Amino acid sequence: MNVGRKKLKSDQMYLRLALFLAFLFQTTLLSAQSVADFAPLVNPATLGQHVEVLASDSIEGRETAEPGMQKAVSYVEKQFQSFGLKPPFNGSYRQEVPFVKWNVNSYDVGFGENMYEAGKGFYMMPPGHSNPLFVSGKAFWVCAIDTLPNTVNITKQSMVLLLTSHMKNITDDSLNNLINESVKKLSVSKVAAIVVERNFDGDREKRQIRRMNSGMLALVKQESSAQPPVCHISPSVYKDIRKKSKREKGSSSPIIHLKENFTIKINGYRTTCYNVGGILPGGDAGDQYILVTAHLDHLGKRDSVIYYGADDDGSGSAAVMNLAAAFAEAKRQSVVLKRSILFLLFTGEEKGLLGSTYFTENPPIPMEQTVANLNIDMIGRVDTVSRKDNRYVYIIGSDKMSKDLHQLSESTNNTCCQINLDYTYNDESHPMRLYYRSDHYSFVKKGVPAIFYFTGLHDDYHKPTDTADKLDYVKTASIAQLVFSTAWELANRPDRITVDQKR
Ligand SMILES: [Zn+2]
Repeated sequence: MNVGRKKLKSDQMYLRLALFLAFLFQTTLLSAQSVADFAPLVNPATLGQHVEVLASDSIEGRETAEPGMQKAVSYVEKQFQSFGLKPPFNGSYRQEVPFVKWNVNSYDVGFGENMYEAGKGFYMMPPGHSNPLFVSGKAFWVCAIDTLPNTVNITKQSMVLLLTSHMKNITDDSLNNLINESVKKLSVSKVAAIVVERNFDGDREKRQIRRMNSGMLALVKQESSAQPPVCHISPSVYKDIRKKSKREKGSSSPIIHLKENFTIKINGYRTTCYNVGGILPGGDAGDQYILVTAHLDHLGKRDSVIYYGADDDGSGSAAVMNLAAAFAEAKRQSVVLKRSILFLLFTGEEKGLLGSTYFTENPPIPMEQTVANLNIDMIGRVDTVSRKDNRYVYIIGSDKMSKDLHQLSESTNNTCCQINLDYTYNDESHPMRLYYRSDHYSFVKKGVPAIFYFTGLHDDYHKPTDTADKLDYVKTASIAQLVFSTAWELANRPDRITVDQKR
């Protein structure tokens, strides 16, 4: 019995010792797990699968607020949910972004029942706000566009006609500038500026008409300035106006009167799209956030031709999802990083950084708690202009606001990846102005240091031929792993990086 009891005791001891050793072994194993153990989860195969979906026919080029984009949003939402990320937006993975959209049917221009056809008799750019606009009247102030006085008493005139027919040799850019400057002089509400174009067949005019036809989008905002709408009419519409008008008494008067009302009506419609996000909660500094971002939207379809946007920015979107999965797996294996990471895919980037602008105006977490933004936009192709190898990435913005960020970016790369970090486009005055051209810039404007990862332009940029089969997924994975390791360091280093310079 005693022996038996002794044996039982020693058995228990051995069991306890074994459990203790197992525990020690396991904790040692866990604490030894590091960024290098999880980086391989970011890989060419997974990236390729995501890009194939985002750049498929059924997603229709992911045009903001169009059905294909809504499908892409659902796809990302399901991914974030399946990784076990937390929803950042009041229990939702989606942030609703309100837009106003104008298309070719949004404009009515003409006399009473006789309206001109958009793109034939006139074209318009939408106003800077979302309110419907209606200007109608019988009196016009008429003058050559370069002779419009600085102060015009046009309170009685609802229309100002600006003639350009004499400006034969001016460049398109100069003419656009001249129009903008002239319109600024008319900062009176309920007045429309009507530019009589020299012709309607020029490249500039065709470009503008294409823009109008493809629909224009803006964030919903209130009427902020009294800048008048600008309507561009063809020489033949101008002829109609002159036929129906007579000049005011006194030959030098710039005012003509019409027999019937000329009307300009602009009516945009409200629509919505979404930013999609997911949070990986951090540990003892979990109220600080690293933002890993890309844009989900692209150009959609033009006359049923799909612009797939596999590189722009299918590559970045795929990378953000793959990074999220890798970080989530680390968390599942009990690796808790100090800070939180918010993975975000934006809408409306191609329309002027609209989704990221909305996010920074309506953040679910205080912007002061945002440590840094790592933004990935086009990392799937090799720059056909200036590069041949595939071990490089253009780094833009890393040194602009935080020395810590720049140093961390470089030292992480030395440790993990040894990719050639190319700063060609980091110069703010580079003619391509890339520092201002992706969503990271919305964060820079709010004082958040950011890095924009980019691998350059190529022949398929913003063309229907930017397709999934042309991506170099090995290269994409190597850059995505660099972003993974950089995000890991940012999230896990003892101190938050400091910001030396606000923009
Ligand atoms: Zn892009």
